[in-house]
Amino acid sequence: MIDLRSDTVTRPTAAMREAMARAEVGDDVWRDDPTVTAFEAEVAEHAGMRAGLFVPSGTQSNLIALLTHCQRGDEFLAGDGSHIYRDEGGGAAALGGISAQPLPHEADGSLALDRLRRAVKGEDIHHAKTRLLALENTFRGKVLPEAYTREATELARGLGLATHLDGARLFNSAVASGRPLAALCRGFDSVSLCFSKGLGAPVGSVLLGNEAFIGRARRWRKTLGGGMRQVGILAAGCRYALRHHIERLAEDHHNARQLAQGLGEIATVEVRACDTNMVIVSVPESHCAALGTFLAERGILVAAAPTLRMVTHLDVSAGDIHHVVASFKAYFAT
Ligand SMILES: *Cc1c(COP(=O)(O)O)cnc(C)c1O
Repeated sequence: MIDLRSDTVTRPTAAMREAMARAEVGDDVWRDDPTVTAFEAEVAEHAGMRAGLFVPSGTQSNLIALLTHCQRGDEFLAGDGSHIYRDEGGGAAALGGISAQPLPHEADGSLALDRLRRAVKGEDIHHAKTRLLALENTFRGKVLPEAYTREATELARGLGLATHLDGARLFNSAVASGRPLAALCRGFDSVSLCFSKGLGAPVGSVLLGNEAFIGRARRWRKTLGGGMRQVGILAAGCRYALRHHIERLAEDHHNARQLAQGLGEIATVEVRACDTNMVIVSVPESHCAALGTFLAERGILVAAAPTLRMVTHLDVSAGDIHHVVASFKAYFAT
């Protein structure tokens, strides 16, 4: 199957599995796993951050960041379409007594600086304490402008806020913009990176920050049940991805552009956006179900909806994209 529903569907390659099988391991809760410890340091160095913590998922990574930055009754600022606000089960409220103040996104995915400034609540005892600004890069496939993140983090710091970057797909931003990962992390107190999306590892995220922050985060990871034992097996898969699967993200971006171009030739389909590895198109609602079935019969999986997001990744080739475009054309020709 050609699975375009998400880049989370990638499967570990034979070489990655081999690296995982060979991993040296120990009990990571006791900090005895040499593969995890080395991997955390390697990622931190790559990102220009002081320290890292290997965690099971991006959701847990973001939650640990919120719990570490904020106290009960505090609030954080985030985009109203951001993953940390919309797609993490309200974990900060459920487990931390932390509320979110969602702000609308600008067209480029950023949060307007004047809106950010106004959103920070004063010291009045009626108010929740605004403690943290959380940004996301990429946001729906868009690369957040580096000049913007610099201004936003400086503004936040000036207002007494900590800053967190949800960089689940930050490697896509780095490759698309030709900038080093560290440049995109600069200015943030904490950064979360995922290895189980376009990078193709089966499991794993890394939360980054300074040593004191990561020390407190390690405690929260244990509290949340994220302390794992011989987890070097998983970290080895992520390390393999870090060393072998970053440059190739350019292929995913190229394939996304080819897909957008091909679908753009179909009158009934409107290409709404194509950034990094995501293509978003509109199809008339009356076609959704039939199109989904038609594509599935041709070995193509999409999350059929009027606004259809298709994601390219490691397991989708240029040839697959030709087949997808041809299949869309065949459907709309009938
Ligand atoms: C996928 C994703 C996450 C969470 O990752 P999981 O590993 O699925 O929990 C966080 N933020 C963004 C932007 C994501 O796309």
